[in-house]
Amino acid sequence: SIHHLAYPPSPAQMDWNTHFPTFFAPPPQEGEGSPSLKGKKVEFADVGCGFGGLSIALAPLFPDTLMLGLEIRVQVTQYVSDKIRALRLNPGSVDPDNADDVAEAAVAAGETEGEPAAKRQKVDETVKAEGGKLAPVRGIRPELMPPEGYAYGNVSVLRANAMKFLPNFFEKGQLSKIFFLFPDPHFKQRKHKARIISPTLLAEYAYVLRPGGLLYTITDVPDLHTWMTGHLAPFPLFQRLTEEEIDRLGLESGEGVVGQEGSELQQMRERAVMEAVKRRTEEGKKVERNQGGKQWSVWRRLPDPE
Ligand code: SAM
Repeated sequence: SIHHLAYPPSPAQMDWNTHFPTFFAPPPQEGEGSPSLKGKKVEFADVGCGFGGLSIALAPLFPDTLMLGLEIRVQVTQYVSDKIRALRLNPGSVDPDNADDVAEAAVAAGETEGEPAAKRQKVDETVKAEGGKLAPVRGIRPELMPPEGYAYGNVSVLRANAMKFLPNFFEKGQLSKIFFLFPDPHFKQRKHKARIISPTLLAEYAYVLRPGGLLYTITDVPDLHTWMTGHLAPFPLFQRLTEEEIDRLGLESGEGVVGQEGSELQQMRERAVMEAVKRRTEEGKKVERNQGGKQWSVWRRLPDPE
């Protein structure tokens, strides 16, 4: 059960079947790993996912990519787990919050930011007219529409302390994206060691992230932004992207979701990711309501030195 903070001795021994039953078979024996049915592994990790807004918004946009939220609080993890279960059982009646997220992310991906209210209303009407099916996305960006029968099989949540044991869950270079969205600020000096970005932990994040993969941070706490970028910048395996490079993500192959061809479609997806990073998490929405400022950064994992 998710209440139990268990971790496998190695990634190969992890039972992913309980998380992604359409992608993994049950382990043949207790303590063994789960055979992969489609040759996929978790690629996106949302560290400290909270209520899961990011992963749930991204899942339909990357239907072939497995994504996992990591959350330490029991009840919060349970909430996300229940929400995903409901979405899986009832793919036809999509969570309205999420339909909104997906539609807005899709809109933002293809259009400029700050969509006119009229357009958004049209999206809402389409959602209603379609009886809450996933169809509204189709009305916006056919390319970003998940395939027929899509049912959130590619997203899950794991109760874990992400500051420990990450390499127990993920192999070297397994992840193509790792997110640190609105992490707890731990304001007091003596609590700084509890911050989720630190020199030691950066080495672990670099280990699980593949060369070319991307690390994302965002916060509304200026001091934390300074802290995170201040630790990432001197770290030899991460290189910060400029805003222009962020905007062009996905166009060249080997960027963003590594291994996929660069294309305008990939660019749309990558833009939707940035939109979700800024606006689709519960914390991001709260900051928005309070009209707080946000600072973000995106870092490319560089190849290991020879
Ligand atoms: N990323 C979410 C968002 O943007 O809405 C949640 C942000 S919330 C301020 C930070 C979250 O990180 C909390 O839900 C907290 O329980 C979780 N967290 C803190 N330390 C963690 C750790 N070591 N491992 C996993 N989750 C952690």
